[in-house]
Amino acid sequence: MKDYFVGVDLGGTNVEVCLLSDSGEVVGRGAAPTEVALGPVSLVDRVAAICQEMLASSSIGVSEVRAFCIGSPGPISVSEGKIIKAGNLPGFDNFRLRGELSARLGVPGLLENDANVACWGEFWRGAGRGTTDMVMFTLGTGIGGGMVVAGELVHGSEDNGAELGHMIIVPKGRKCSCGQCGCLEAYASASHTAKRAMEALQAGRSSVLEGVLQRSGTITSKDVFECAVAGDELANEVVDGTAAALAQACVSMRHITEPQTVVLAGGMINAGDMLTSRVKKFYNEMMWNLKSETMEICLAQLGADAGVIGAAGLALHHYQNDRLGAVGE
Ligand SMILES: [Zn+2]
Repeated sequence: MKDYFVGVDLGGTNVEVCLLSDSGEVVGRGAAPTEVALGPVSLVDRVAAICQEMLASSSIGVSEVRAFCIGSPGPISVSEGKIIKAGNLPGFDNFRLRGELSARLGVPGLLENDANVACWGEFWRGAGRGTTDMVMFTLGTGIGGGMVVAGELVHGSEDNGAELGHMIIVPKGRKCSCGQCGCLEAYASASHTAKRAMEALQAGRSSVLEGVLQRSGTITSKDVFECAVAGDELANEVVDGTAAALAQACVSMRHITEPQTVVLAGGMINAGDMLTSRVKKFYNEMMWNLKSETMEICLAQLGADAGVIGAAGLALHHYQNDRLGAVGE
């Protein structure tokens, strides 16, 4: 008899589920709309139903499933297994998601921050494979962060550490959605990259981005990167600003935990080598010269699968290290 593990990646739109064998092979997949309006109990019902379908179609008994892990938006409490508050999951505040799903499946589990499970996915099976210390920045509307130190995820004292998007890189700088000023996220997220380009146009700068704005009514970070590739001066300045902000964060992270690898993930990495080559250039310019440095800065490899694979992998990791609680906890 083998051991199997369930990974759940909970998003505001969809919930993804996978079944993993103890050798790390994905043996089943499933997904459903999150349907936030139906509430958390309905969500637990649907996730449990997906699990039962996955097990039935792969002829695996529930008695062979050892653990599950749910990656959820947060802030969350890892120790209590509950969502404290998630902006894109209204009605889920203070819901003990771990205990409810555990009671339904009859299997122990854990609840983890969504950025952390994605970080674990890349660490275990993606761009960080083979490292012991890794940092990940997920570049989307905001910037999600994850840190693995000596082979373990960093949670901090109240489970919400490694919020790397909210490290302040410019004193009294740009306003961030979190209420602070000068956060990394307020410079280098996809939305703020687009926003900085818009602001420059409003300030009277000329750029081919004006045409994009007139045609589509908005500017995305993808537009900024495309215009930069085409040689537009303003677009290149904006991309440099994003890359320099990320490089600054990479220098800080190198000094804090000395990772072997910093992984860039999220929608904005579609920009590819243009993004990494510039981040590396600024990183090399900014980094100290007291010793030679070997840190790698690279793109994520698992794409949208990082969350669900990472969640299942984390369930396996906790099982192997005998860290699971009781069923229904
Ligand atoms: Zn912030």
